[in-house]
Amino acid sequence: MKILFVSSEALPLSKTGGLADVAFSLPKALAEEDIDIRVITPYYSTIATALVEHADFLGSKTIHMNWRNQYMGVHEIHFGKVVYYLIDNEYYFKRDQLYGYFDDGERFSFFSKAVLEAIDMTHFEPDVIHLNDWHTAIVPYLLKTQYAKDPRYAQTKSVFTIHNLKYQGVFERGFLEDMFGPESAFHGDGRLVFGSGINFMKAGIRFADKITTVSETYAEEILTPYFGEKLEWDLNYRRHDLVGLTNGIDYDDYNPKTDARLFFNYDHSTPEGKRANKAKLQALSGLTVDENVPLIAIVSRLVDSKGFDLIERVMPEMFDLGVQMIVLGTGDYHYENLFKYYSQRFPNRLKVYVEFNATLAQRIYAGSDLFLMPSRFEPCGLGQLIALRYGSIPIVRETGGLKDTVVPYNRFTGEGTGFTFTNYNAHEMLDQIRDAVELFQTNQEGWNALVQQAMSADHSWKRSAHHYLEIYRNLGK
Ligand code: ADP
Repeated sequence: MKILFVSSEALPLSKTGGLADVAFSLPKALAEEDIDIRVITPYYSTIATALVEHADFLGSKTIHMNWRNQYMGVHEIHFGKVVYYLIDNEYYFKRDQLYGYFDDGERFSFFSKAVLEAIDMTHFEPDVIHLNDWHTAIVPYLLKTQYAKDPRYAQTKSVFTIHNLKYQGVFERGFLEDMFGPESAFHGDGRLVFGSGINFMKAGIRFADKITTVSETYAEEILTPYFGEKLEWDLNYRRHDLVGLTNGIDYDDYNPKTDARLFFNYDHSTPEGKRANKAKLQALSGLTVDENVPLIAIVSRLVDSKGFDLIERVMPEMFDLGVQMIVLGTGDYHYENLFKYYSQRFPNRLKVYVEFNATLAQRIYAGSDLFLMPSRFEPCGLGQLIALRYGSIPIVRETGGLKDTVVPYNRFTGEGTGFTFTNYNAHEMLDQIRDAVELFQTNQEGWNALVQQAMSADHSWKRSAHHYLEIYRNLGK
């Protein structure tokens, strides 16, 4: 079975969020099952030169996008057992950031078409093309229209995974024609229309052979208006082809025992290693070095959906509990400023790093006691999975993947892996932080057992990778 995995970001080459982790670790897990899976992704200029210096140039061709004739180069590189194809076009991908440009729609329309045209250089004829999020969601539409009679894709099926329904790729009506030529002229096809424009995410939902999303709970949530982002009707229409498969994390990459980014390596049998990481992190961050003060971490994009308005609401009360906090993230100016303000007010209690820093992120997971993630919605969430693996106890809201992966702590039986609350309410969150802090400060044995349980929970990719495989195999049956 041959799978082409299409992603706008993929580790180790590029990353802005969880999608990049998935685009690395799911193919890797499938390759370990001897599946011929190849990743295709843009050749961004931000990719570290050392990573691609041994890439092979497979060739180039001109891509026609209506009146535009664009260069496309294809490069090949191997990471472990997985082949990566890089789509090169400096006009579109030689930028400081991966996304956030006025022409993102055009950039990813180009990439989507390039994915289907690259076959001339790769000679890889996939049984399944697996698309991810809005950036590549137009590919199933292209497969079922312009490429429907292309013999190279006669047997090819498509799977579309929704990692985050919020970002959809909405454009004006004439956009499709402008990108893909007169044959894509919009004739009011209800499968694309969205308000007065068209919607790439919707195209993925309506045209893909199978739709998946990244946790079971999120797969149910998005059928409702609250989580459905105005696509709940289309998702309900396809609900029999929609499944939720919970993400895992790569257990080789995220392993506190071997992670070279940490100050000290440790595992569940060497808690003193974790304590040493905490002391070093506190010192590095200018916080009071004290192992008895609970240290709460946040590693996240600083955006509304991650629940920062709850934190803002009860920030002074959180500090009244005697905690320290370290925040690593970039995003909304408002939240960057919020944490900067409090870090000036409580310099030895709160440190904020406004940057994207993968090494520091791991040091924070390793050095913290608690990991706060009170999201308004969370398709899966990787932060809490990494936190569990590194023995930082998650405090999460019961939504999406957070609900599916963190087992609420039961103070009577001692079972569980974290602290959870149901309603999107700042004081419900605060109550859980209070319970966590109380356990940390008053019941050493109970706390240590909880950390052990968290670290031993299995969120590796193996199980989910098998489910994906089943889906690929059942396509068209
Ligand atoms: P999302 O994909 O919505 O951003 P996830 O929890 O699924 O959220 O994935 C976020 C990933 O990005 C995690 O691996 C997290 O550690 C990482 N991350 C987020 N912000 C930063 C940052 N500022 N520096 C380093 N890593 C970050």
